[in-house]
Amino acid sequence: MTPGICETAGAVTDSLPAPLLRAVDHARGFLPSLRDRPVTVDATFAALVSALGGPLPESGDEPAHVIDDLAATALPGLMATAGPRYFGFVTGGSYPVAVAADWLVSTWDQNAALHVMSPAMSAIEAVTSHWILDVLDLPRDASVAFVTGAHMANVTGLAAARDEVLRRHGWDVESRGLQGAPTVTVLAGADAHSSIAAATRLLGLGADRIICVPSDDQGRMRADALALLLSSSAGPRIVCAQAGNVNTGACDPFVPIASAARAHGAWLHVDGAFGLWAAASPARRHLVDGVALADSWTTDGHKWLNVPYDSGIAIVAHPSAHRAAMSQSAVYLTPAANAERDGMDWTPEASRRARAVPIYAVFRALGRSGLAELVDRCCRLASRMAEKLRSAEGVRVLNDIVLNQVLVRFDSADGANVTPAVIAGVQREGTCWCGPTGWQGEPAMRISVSNWQTSEQDVDRSADAIMGVHSRTR
Ligand SMILES: *Cc1c(COP(=O)(O)O)cnc(C)c1O
Repeated sequence: MTPGICETAGAVTDSLPAPLLRAVDHARGFLPSLRDRPVTVDATFAALVSALGGPLPESGDEPAHVIDDLAATALPGLMATAGPRYFGFVTGGSYPVAVAADWLVSTWDQNAALHVMSPAMSAIEAVTSHWILDVLDLPRDASVAFVTGAHMANVTGLAAARDEVLRRHGWDVESRGLQGAPTVTVLAGADAHSSIAAATRLLGLGADRIICVPSDDQGRMRADALALLLSSSAGPRIVCAQAGNVNTGACDPFVPIASAARAHGAWLHVDGAFGLWAAASPARRHLVDGVALADSWTTDGHKWLNVPYDSGIAIVAHPSAHRAAMSQSAVYLTPAANAERDGMDWTPEASRRARAVPIYAVFRALGRSGLAELVDRCCRLASRMAEKLRSAEGVRVLNDIVLNQVLVRFDSADGANVTPAVIAGVQREGTCWCGPTGWQGEPAMRISVSNWQTSEQDVDRSADAIMGVHSRTR
């Protein structure tokens, strides 16, 4: 009989192996420290390597000591990326419920490749898939893959796209490969994420053969330009659009893009690593109007959903193309007997971590309303940051704040762009962390509010610190 958790909680704790107890203790110290820890690291790579390294030990060490030593040695090199004032890249933190679920994933050590290997993980993936399609309002019969990140989700979606557009032109790319195949033309917005080019490279489509579709002043693909380019090309085609420009947060106009793609028989893929989550908020949903008309989508769990790495999600409106591109078979790979889910059918992996579990836990803990609230709160805080910074002399906010991204330029008293110096100063000062980018040929600072813990005070403290560095730089 399975013992009830309540009756045995004390005994369970005491009987946990010592290294696990030590890890709990380190979490107890580290997680609360994220609120006030400086968002900067002094330790150099060389110092860390030397502290962690030395020759491979000949004999083993006591496991609890290994964990203690690991935690102590890594600590000076840990960046507070999971904390509330890390605004670099587009980086979420992790809800405690997601970390706890992730601990369970490691504890259970299930292989989420096949239903026969773990019926529970197969069921959790199936339920989580339905919830994702529901909250993002995508076709309910689409297939969902849990992969390592948005990059691998782009690879997965574009592999399905390659399969389908070539099949429509009488070519079975899964068996015949690309040699001798009709040319596949990929069209992507001028502001597409670098991962789109990297994915086309991996898929043999050639990054330099992407046709670049001009974008507007917020980085949105111009649908009229796309329609023209589609009219002047022929054959199998894939269009890559974007929900959430990494600089401005702007989303492409999906209704006219989808209609142009459809008119030309092109596959429409949408990279929405963070921006797709706008669909979870009734107040922001209009930003991704028409996104459900696409053929495949990419998003991340480890960014705005605030689950631990690695968590990417690929969604495909044509499950047969998706499965054909990803699945493998062997006599010993027992397929599910009755439509149960085999996770590896949809991913470029065989043995796999049960990545859906932390996503499931966050969905349960927040519910539909909590997800909307997370998205709205981050967007509100991004607007607050923009307002604060904009009030200072010599600071210009370069984008329309539609989502969680703020793009800023800092000028010296005589109007020179001193943004790189301000960024370096902010990163040294350590109240918050913001990174560099380029916008319309000029250096700019990018601020992304994606963390569940970020509060108004965090934004105000950070804005003050940034403006302080700027006034000292001027
Ligand atoms: C972050 C990001 C990616 C890459 O995602 P990973 O999760 O780092 O693999 C791709 N596209 C966009 C728009 C992104 O923001």
